[in-house]
Amino acid sequence: MTEKMLKFTKLNQQTPNKREAGNRIEDFREIYDEFIHGKAKEQSSRCSQCGVPFCQIHCPLHNNIPDWLKLTAEGRLQEANELAHSTNNMPEICGRICPQDRLCEGNCVIEQSGHGTVTIGSVEKFITDTAWEKGWIKPIVIDKENNQSIGIIGAGPAGLSCAEELRKLGYKVTIYDRYDRAGGLLIYGIPNFKLEKSVIERRTNLLKKSGIKFQQNIDVGKDITLKELKKKHDAVLIATGVYKPKEVNLPGHNLKNIFPAMDFLTASNRKGLGDYVKDFDNGKLNAENKNIVVIGGGDTAMDCVRTAIRQNAKSVKCLYRRDKENMPGSLREVNNAEEEGVEFIWLSNPKKFIGAEKISSLIVEKMKLEASDSSGRKKPIPIKNSDYEIKTDIVIKALGFDPENLPKLFNDPHLNVSDQGTIKINLKSMETNISGIFAAGDIVRGASLVVWAIRDGRDVATSIHKYLQNKQASKIKAA
Ligand SMILES: Cc1cc2nc3c(=O)[nH]c(=O)nc-3n(C[C@H](O)[C@H](O)[C@H](O)COP(=O)(O)OP(=O)(O)OC[C@H]3O[C@@H](n4cnc5c(N)ncnc54)[C@H](O)[C@@H]3O)c2cc1C
Ligand code: SF4
Repeated sequence: MTEKMLKFTKLNQQTPNKREAGNRIEDFREIYDEFIHGKAKEQSSRCSQCGVPFCQIHCPLHNNIPDWLKLTAEGRLQEANELAHSTNNMPEICGRICPQDRLCEGNCVIEQSGHGTVTIGSVEKFITDTAWEKGWIKPIVIDKENNQSIGIIGAGPAGLSCAEELRKLGYKVTIYDRYDRAGGLLIYGIPNFKLEKSVIERRTNLLKKSGIKFQQNIDVGKDITLKELKKKHDAVLIATGVYKPKEVNLPGHNLKNIFPAMDFLTASNRKGLGDYVKDFDNGKLNAENKNIVVIGGGDTAMDCVRTAIRQNAKSVKCLYRRDKENMPGSLREVNNAEEEGVEFIWLSNPKKFIGAEKISSLIVEKMKLEASDSSGRKKPIPIKNSDYEIKTDIVIKALGFDPENLPKLFNDPHLNVSDQGTIKINLKSMETNISGIFAAGDIVRGASLVVWAIRDGRDVATSIHKYLQNKQASKIKAA
């Protein structure tokens, strides 16, 4: 274990959330984010009410940040909570996991003037956590239920936000999901130390109490077809996210102990939720006492390295083909990982996996950066004769995700998708090429962010409402 990893372990043990035997991962939380009332007030008071709310413009939900900061500074938390909920279905979740440095906080004028941003995300989390504690957040109560129903495929943030908005309008809503728990990547992707599972379960339980029906363990395409869902409901939303891992097809890629990121993260999250996870308990997907190499430079890679650290890995290396300045992940996450003892190997690309049956090392080639590519980042070019070897026990591939082949999976070849496999929608109505079937979230955008999935879920709810009102009006006219 490196000096930094030891320091990090010590620091964690000093926090009130310190680990306990038998429940190790559940209690081993984020250490950077302790926030108390006084601090929320102090931070909120720092907002200059500048009149040009760049923070609000750069928040995908256009949250009324200056106003809820003002209310918090004045101690009017209940009103701040109402305001926060008026534009966001999950403010406590966004407050925890939005990459604020790229969104609201990165555009705070106080940050721009060099005085450090108002910590908007932490205040948002504080307002909503307080509201939950005080019992201000209540299930939806419907005066009169509408006869029309909507079937939603996917219980991730896009599906959940859409369901909530449509339920508020009185519709019958059923969510179908192939996982055993609701939440999508919130529950099985994002690690517990960034987003406690109890926070997600609190939200999904509220939606259940609001009358939204959840059908878990239903794999649309296998257990029920899209056509059957269309017959059953007046409108259908596809919010299935993107799950096909991008591959590293190098010599040796079939060796044992090379895992996709989601296998590693799901095992860890299930363990945190108290499940029996065979491949974690038998050591296969457990980093304890092992040398780990994670390939990739995005937020998923950061979640993998930081999870491995928390599992007491012997060493954790992150291999990335560009440099720190050109990483796609949040800089805050990278800095946290560095502080916890992750060793970043910049400008390095895997070339070959080596091992008898299991992986034992990988050959890496050094890269240099040349002119920017289409993504606006500098293009990595291999340096000749620069290969070297890194010993490892486990390799985790965290290179991102592509959509599954939905027309094939849903046995509906008419469903229009882009060359990348994302669903094509009418950008105004969010309807697919099939009438009455809508799509939102990562399956439309490609791998994105929770806050964008929420935004899409809210927007598509408005479109579905319009569509159903028109449908109803036509029915009445025809009768
Ligand atoms: C490891 C990881 C960490 C991340 N960290 C962050 C972060 O810190 N901050 C952030 O903002 N974003 C983060 N993201 C991105 C974020 O989680 C996604 O952008 C967001 O969850 C997308 O929401 P969604 O509702 O579109 O899809 P998802 O959350 O993926 O939900 C889709 C749901 O559809 C279900 N489903 C799929 N196919 C079917 C089917 N055929 N039948 C039935 N159900 C189906 C799935 O089981 C799933 O529950 C992270 C992503 C990953 C992978
Ligand atoms: S939702 Fe995200 S971007 Fe918007 S204010 Fe909250 S933390 Fe910032």
